[in-house]
Amino acid sequence: MFKVQELPYEMSALEPYVSEKTLSFHYGKHYPNYVNTLNKLIEGSEFENMSLEDIICATYNKPDKQAIFNNAGQVWNHEFLWKSMSPQGGIPKGKLLDKIVEQYGSFEEFRKQLRDAAVAQFGSGWAWVYEDNGTIKIMTTANGDTPIARGIKPILNIDVWEHAYYLDYQNRRVEHVEKFIDHLANWQELDD
Ligand code: MN
Repeated sequence: MFKVQELPYEMSALEPYVSEKTLSFHYGKHYPNYVNTLNKLIEGSEFENMSLEDIICATYNKPDKQAIFNNAGQVWNHEFLWKSMSPQGGIPKGKLLDKIVEQYGSFEEFRKQLRDAAVAQFGSGWAWVYEDNGTIKIMTTANGDTPIARGIKPILNIDVWEHAYYLDYQNRRVEHVEKFIDHLANWQELDD
């Protein structure tokens, strides 16, 4: 049985960029619903005692296992999202920033590409930053899809489902994404 993970900060800690009201629905209602639905779907099945990552990989591209994949992906994506946000977040530092500037010319250019990718994701989904053989890349996934299914370990994600921003920004996804990158983004360490 998967359990709801603790939020690493107070529900109001990301104000004013993500309101307490948004997090109380997002963390308090949407996320536990994915956890509970996944638990119900895997009960008594071959997936019951598998890790979340193993369930995601075992159900990827299997049409008859789509519901399990969607919910397992959304559990993983949200647990990573809680860590991808921080009251002390913002532009990256150190080795990651050096790599970004080296590859993209400036952080501003990288920020633009990440913002544009997140805004252009049609419908519900996620924007991701990850390292591929020393190169910093951007990708998006739709709905509950996750880079974990492709063996990719991300260093940041941004939720662009409307439930992540609608109460605070209504239809202004671009504003949600810009505030996220500029104030909340909590970049995971690069592997050495
Ligand atoms: Mn979400």
